[in-house]
Amino acid sequence: MAARILDGKAIAAEMREELTADVQSLVRTGIKPGLGVLLVGDDPASRSYVTAKERACERTGIYSQEVRMPSHASKREILAVVEDFNKDDRIDGILVQLPLPDTSIEQDVIASIDPSKDVDGFHPVNVGRMMLGLPAFLPCTPHGILQILKRSGIEVKGSHVVIVGRSNIVGRPLANMLSQKRTLGNATVTICHTATKDIAVHTRQADIIVAATGRPNTITADMVSEGVVVIDVGVNRIDDRSAKRGYRLIGDVEFDTVREIASAITPVPGGVGPMTIAMLLYNTLESARSRNA
Ligand code: NAP
Repeated sequence: MAARILDGKAIAAEMREELTADVQSLVRTGIKPGLGVLLVGDDPASRSYVTAKERACERTGIYSQEVRMPSHASKREILAVVEDFNKDDRIDGILVQLPLPDTSIEQDVIASIDPSKDVDGFHPVNVGRMMLGLPAFLPCTPHGILQILKRSGIEVKGSHVVIVGRSNIVGRPLANMLSQKRTLGNATVTICHTATKDIAVHTRQADIIVAATGRPNTITADMVSEGVVVIDVGVNRIDDRSAKRGYRLIGDVEFDTVREIASAITPVPGGVGPMTIAMLLYNTLESARSRNA
């Protein structure tokens, strides 16, 4: 039987509704949460992510302020914008859309964000706090994945989760969160990457597989066992002349064949992506609350 579709779009809409109500009550006390967004360069994917995030802010009642800079903007100019956001009381959360055209300055830019406004959860202070299990802004994509599992009634505790991909924004923080002894954790976690000898040996033993490689067809039907839950984080553009935009988005999982074996699976688009945005709104609201407590 084909797998249940884990509808991230619907779960994110449900979360946005809850967040909208929470934002409204905060606004009634005179506090309007605000997000500062910095977009450097004109990468089309980054532009569309930023637009989606700002639209979501608007619909939820969160103030957003965008600064766009040309791709040749210097590190000093970028840091000056972050500093303005750091000082601006209307701004509770700062989002620097990654990747920057010059990726070599990304860590310095992230480190310049006030950790109390780091709603992406990428600042070393928040990464460290998260790893220690202390209160911190949780990075949006891993947190969104945990919410999909929770809100779909999928038990994480005691399960074996195999994560394919070890980036700082998805694989590693997710592995850390899932392995902690806490609600939405308590799993046994295996991380695979390009040096893993035989990924299928691991994925076939998984109760839950998370694919976050940025490579189509990383997970194929022969690599999964009956009844597995599959979370596909990948967003890959592939040419498609029949599509209006000339391309379509696919994930890292061979969806059509894997869904025949899995018990549940996230689609691409409409799975993890909308949840990432919902968790950004969540962190911005949390920041406004704690900064005004
Ligand atoms: P990344 O920084 O490029 O990291 C990719 C990871 O996958 C690396 O650890 C790499 O291993 C591993 N990998 C690559 N090819 C592999 C293969 N064939 N077998 C095993 N491991 C492999 O990517 P990322 O930023 O984590 O993003 C991953 C995907 O998720 C991308 O498609 C991205 O667009 C998408 N994404 C989606 C959202 C969302 O909201 N939906 C958010 C973030 C990212 P090594 O470390 O050995 O190189």
